[in-house]
Amino acid sequence: MTDPIVSVENLKKHFTHREGFLGMKSRPVKAVDGVTLDVHPGETVGLVGESGCGKSTLGRVVLRLIDPTEGSIRFEGADITSLDTAALRPMRRRMQIIFQDPYSSLNPRMTVKATVGEAMRIHGLVSNDDEEADRVAELLRRVGLRPEHSSRYPHEFSGGQRQRIGIARALAVEPRFIVADEPISALDVSIQAQIVNLLGELQDELGLSYLFIAHDLKVVELVSKRVAVMYLGRVVELASSAALYGEPKHPYTRALLSAVPVPDPKRERSRIVLEGDVPSPLDPPAGCHFHPRCSIAKKGLCDREAPVLRELTPGHQVSCHLAE
Ligand code: SF4
Repeated sequence: MTDPIVSVENLKKHFTHREGFLGMKSRPVKAVDGVTLDVHPGETVGLVGESGCGKSTLGRVVLRLIDPTEGSIRFEGADITSLDTAALRPMRRRMQIIFQDPYSSLNPRMTVKATVGEAMRIHGLVSNDDEEADRVAELLRRVGLRPEHSSRYPHEFSGGQRQRIGIARALAVEPRFIVADEPISALDVSIQAQIVNLLGELQDELGLSYLFIAHDLKVVELVSKRVAVMYLGRVVELASSAALYGEPKHPYTRALLSAVPVPDPKRERSRIVLEGDVPSPLDPPAGCHFHPRCSIAKKGLCDREAPVLRELTPGHQVSCHLAE
């Protein structure tokens, strides 16, 4: 296998939560708590889990949009964990993000041409206005919009079209790796498949790698080669898409998948209802974070010792004392 384009090791992001009189008391919120993960060139790795599990924070830390608390991030073989803003700038154009809500991520006062062209200019990828206009028109065509759309403003477009603009903006700087953070969850169901297909075509044409963050497990199965399941800041299972969906090993993954309707009766599972909500990351349960909701938790073990992520079969890692 080729070297990973992105490689994170024991990555942590802890925020400080202030409370009490004048915020004098502080407690850590372990949004990302020791994640190790690779993404290979041309690969899509899906990242799933309930909201608040740390998926989006992980995506932003990987891109160094947020500084990590601990751990390391390598991009194209270079350690970027502690690079300052100036040293990061040349890397920035090769790592991009597509946001969930294309409307709030686009400046309402900037035309499409200015939005898509801005990054090209900043990174010196175009030398004059004509070249910029040509390149913007080419990108708009490539994402399914028309060149004449370039003079319009974000409010003149539908949600799907705005997401296409967001994709064009990300592509403008010729990235190699894109964090797609819930790129279709704000869109109508009828539009979602079009955006998923577009991302797939762009990957094939340009050799892009994606970290695809989503809570829709069906979509993640469709687009991902490998999938990581997160729970309270940690990866609890990581496997090829086929292995994770065909033979999930972690009780949390099993519960998530049991709620997904499947067309294949052989894969039909009885529904496992998860008790309660995801605990607060301010006060995570001791031992295995999942133990208060786990139907097979073992008293004296799961509530005391945190399981480590271990490889059960080649490429299939699970963080559970009882998984085999
Ligand atoms: Fe359940 Fe224990 Fe496995 Fe955690 S370690 S998932 S509590 S069985």
